[in-house]
Amino acid sequence: MDKCSFCGRKRSEVNLLISGVTGFICDECSARAYEIIKEEKLTGKEKSKFDINKIKVKKPVEIKEFLDQYIIGQEYAKKVLSVAVYNHYKRLSVSDITDNDGVEIDKSNIIMVGETGTGKTLIAKTIAKMLHVPFTIVDATVLTEAGYVGEDIESLLTRLLQAADYNVEKAEQGIVFIDEIDKIARKGDNPSITRDVSGEGVQQGLLKLLEGAVVNVPPQGGRKHPEQKMIPVNTKHILFIAGGAFDGIEKQIARRLNTQVVGFDKQEKNQIDKENFLQYVSPQDLKSFGLIPEIIGRMPVLTYLNPLDKKALRAILTEPKNSIIKQYIKLFKIDKIDLHINDNVLEYIVDRAIEYKIGARGLRSICEVIMTDAMFELPSKKVKKFTIDLKYAKSKLEKTNIKKLKVA
Ligand code: ADP
Repeated sequence: MDKCSFCGRKRSEVNLLISGVTGFICDECSARAYEIIKEEKLTGKEKSKFDINKIKVKKPVEIKEFLDQYIIGQEYAKKVLSVAVYNHYKRLSVSDITDNDGVEIDKSNIIMVGETGTGKTLIAKTIAKMLHVPFTIVDATVLTEAGYVGEDIESLLTRLLQAADYNVEKAEQGIVFIDEIDKIARKGDNPSITRDVSGEGVQQGLLKLLEGAVVNVPPQGGRKHPEQKMIPVNTKHILFIAGGAFDGIEKQIARRLNTQVVGFDKQEKNQIDKENFLQYVSPQDLKSFGLIPEIIGRMPVLTYLNPLDKKALRAILTEPKNSIIKQYIKLFKIDKIDLHINDNVLEYIVDRAIEYKIGARGLRSICEVIMTDAMFELPSKKVKKFTIDLKYAKSKLEKTNIKKLKVA
């Protein structure tokens, strides 16, 4: 008699009996089998969950070597960052082991001080790329205290969640780069009317995130979706890197150094490099600038970036692994065109970037102006080789309104 090989019920006792080569399966058993398969698949996924021990953390020297491939100069910043990142992820790897020594390693959130366009964002981005952890950049100027026009501070975690494809665990190991941290300094004469005048409220709001707390994050961000279900995110292991130009902080540093060295001999005073005061930046200067002491305390790693000189700008054009010039060469190569750019053209590009005061960020806009016509015309021509000489570069750039090159 036909019966289900799994539950043993007869054809008359079930809705459907499916026959196989050597037996039968009823509709209920096949539905149950499907459920089991689904569950198995899910647990399989569970097993492949994000695992901190899978983040391959290189040793500080290796981290720096990685950064060297992409970032020109900034030796001190790269070194400090390499150590901070290494310690941060080392701290994560031991945090689950209950040591009895009571020693808990503090979080090494970082502040970088340096003119805009000197590589702060690039360093943070490159570190995230190396670690394969979610990364997001948030502009501190758009953050406001709850209730003001702008984005809630939690929105910073919304972006990290999005970068992690909503994998909370993954987001909880990520890196957040807070740009323009100097713009939320406590200042009486802050011209902004769209947020609290002092910026102090935002700093207060940031505190708990920096320190490590479970924060309810709106998955879509913003206040446009009041019905959305909040996702709790623990910020304990998120690395925060902040950057800012801190315009005018050099004067503050100089003043402090001047008063400090009073009483010391002349030689010591002369040893101060007056060309670059940023290298002496201390937490005290950030406080005088208007960051609250609690914020400074929770971002214990402080470093600076040097202004980029002509030599650095020249190197940025060609040396980084994905330098602007290498990118153009590759673009043309796809069309089987061998692109060559004369050295004096590269000098010319750097000189213009300095002349127009548009720094490293301006290098690309200058290159774009010079390259656009060639990129437009050459793919349709049967050209195998193309050389950009000084005359060609000048003719393209001189036709352009300099204002167009200004970068934000
Ligand atoms: P910041 O965050 O300091 O304002 P960015 O890191 O955004 O500056 O730099 C802007 C661009 O300029 C980068 O994307 C990169 O192309 C270039 N750049 C700036 N500094 C460097 C550097 N030290 N090495 C290589 N490229 C740099």
